[in-house]
Amino acid sequence: MNKQMRVLRGIPVSPGVTIGPAMILDVTGLRIPPRRVSEAEVDRELERFRQAVEAAVHEVNRQKELVTAKLGPESASIFAAHIVMLRDPGFSNRVERLIRDERYTAEYAVSHTIQRFIEVLQQLKTPLTSRVGDLRDIGNELLRHLIGSQRQELKHLEQPVVILAADLSPAETARLDTSRVLGFATELGGRTSHTAIVAGSLEIPAVVGVEGLLAHVLPGDQVIIDGNQGVVVINPDQPTLERYERALRRFKLFTESLATLRSLPAETKDGTRIALLGNIEFPREVHYSLRQGAEGIGLYRTEFLFLERDTPPTEEDHYEAYCEVIRAVGGRPVVIRTLDLGADKLPGSTDEQRERNPFLGLRSIRLCLRRLELFKTQLRAILRASMEGPVSLMFPMVSTLLELRQAKLVLAEVMEDLAEQGVPYRRDIKVGIMVEVPSTAIMADYYAREVDFFSLGTNDLTQYVLAVDRGNEKVANLYSPVDPAVLRLIRRTIIVSRRRGIPINICGEMCGDPLYTMLLIGLGVRSMSAAPHSLPELKQTIRSVSVEECEKITRRVMLMENARDVEAYLRGIAREKLPELFE
Ligand code: PEP
Ligand code: MG
Repeated sequence: MNKQMRVLRGIPVSPGVTIGPAMILDVTGLRIPPRRVSEAEVDRELERFRQAVEAAVHEVNRQKELVTAKLGPESASIFAAHIVMLRDPGFSNRVERLIRDERYTAEYAVSHTIQRFIEVLQQLKTPLTSRVGDLRDIGNELLRHLIGSQRQELKHLEQPVVILAADLSPAETARLDTSRVLGFATELGGRTSHTAIVAGSLEIPAVVGVEGLLAHVLPGDQVIIDGNQGVVVINPDQPTLERYERALRRFKLFTESLATLRSLPAETKDGTRIALLGNIEFPREVHYSLRQGAEGIGLYRTEFLFLERDTPPTEEDHYEAYCEVIRAVGGRPVVIRTLDLGADKLPGSTDEQRERNPFLGLRSIRLCLRRLELFKTQLRAILRASMEGPVSLMFPMVSTLLELRQAKLVLAEVMEDLAEQGVPYRRDIKVGIMVEVPSTAIMADYYAREVDFFSLGTNDLTQYVLAVDRGNEKVANLYSPVDPAVLRLIRRTIIVSRRRGIPINICGEMCGDPLYTMLLIGLGVRSMSAAPHSLPELKQTIRSVSVEECEKITRRVMLMENARDVEAYLRGIAREKLPELFE
């Protein structure tokens, strides 16, 4: 069977281009690298395969009995079909040939064969296509027996690979060894999902929301990840490969040329300074942010401290992470945001804590106000760290004034405790909120009386205003931060903050896309915080425009009726003004 080139589209979430062999983490998370064994080991691999078939048949029979007992014999027919497939000589001959003739490991031979069968079924487009799910099931069953506890950890990769997966959690993404993982693509996820945000912090190209990704690829296939355009190419033909190799060289040159901007101010042509700050998830990202030209850290998402371990972080864990960030930033400002997670994401969480609507549930500041021990531990550490440099504190997902007052009350209690214990902290620490829930944007004038600053979180604001899950690729076409309804709330919040003299920053992913920079300047934004990789492009854009022309653009945009028109209009202008960024 010839290897067919396939070009798939998804959502670009971390820029760059990379080319490498595919490593597939299938739905059950098993990874099957294309490894070969020595001649002497071939018989052992054949035996492993045969034993795995026996074990899988045994397991399927066991499940069949259980289901028959509960639901009656007709419900168990699916298992009979699985057994027929497992015992099919066409299948086992093919697997055994790969082991004997090519000397592949049993697990690779199984995954390769299953994948090929799936491809053929899908090409046939007959009622048989419905068997694809059955094939996946038996493939997973066999692989479970073959790989079991010997699952090779992603940490111990021997060669550079491109990771392809149905999904990766933010924690899994954070753990990827970027000296070996060249880039990744997933079937699930949207532009502002937390996995996408972590991908950006790893500085490797990534594309999410690629429909049908795993149906078209085999372990070891050559794959191109184009994190600039959101394209994944599987088994590229020669002209495509050459084109991407050229793109890779161009991207490198372009990145180098942007680096020269670092020492220049982020200033419009008519002399208005825009503060450019970095969004980080891990202390180690501070250096990268500064190299990219950040003037401080506008958003430190501390929830990654919780995702990286099996038990909640202690006060010292928090304190050390914050001090590391503050020291690395060297006197520049840092905004530390308190925990922004649902209970199901906390270390040691149970299935019962899973919610039907997690983004509307007990998460973030709501969770902190219920789990005071967690909240107070974090607040103590932030207050102690405030002695080390200019730190501000920010509460996420505030949706009522009472919630804000409660959070401030807890903060005051923690301050009292520290004072009683003689532990130093800055009593005048600035306290701000994320404006990311529509109710808060609507009530911004009230909040302005009770906080020191606002930070506009357009990722959540967009999802809550439009009722579109930010992480769901199925509705990604409906998710746009430039939908007129979202823009009206952004504009309103900026006007309120100006009138009340409250500093406002913008920190959602929208802010990292130079397509929106002119619009944001026109709306009155003067402080932007974005993923470090996007800062040079933002600065280049800021330096190419005047406030007056941005305001003109914004006036036009604010008359438009839908996001598609806004996007098209902004793209047209960007192509004209910044052809090197928007070719
Ligand atoms: C936002 O919601 O826009 C934001 C910046 O926070 P997060 O992406 O962490 O939810
Ligand atoms: Mg948010």
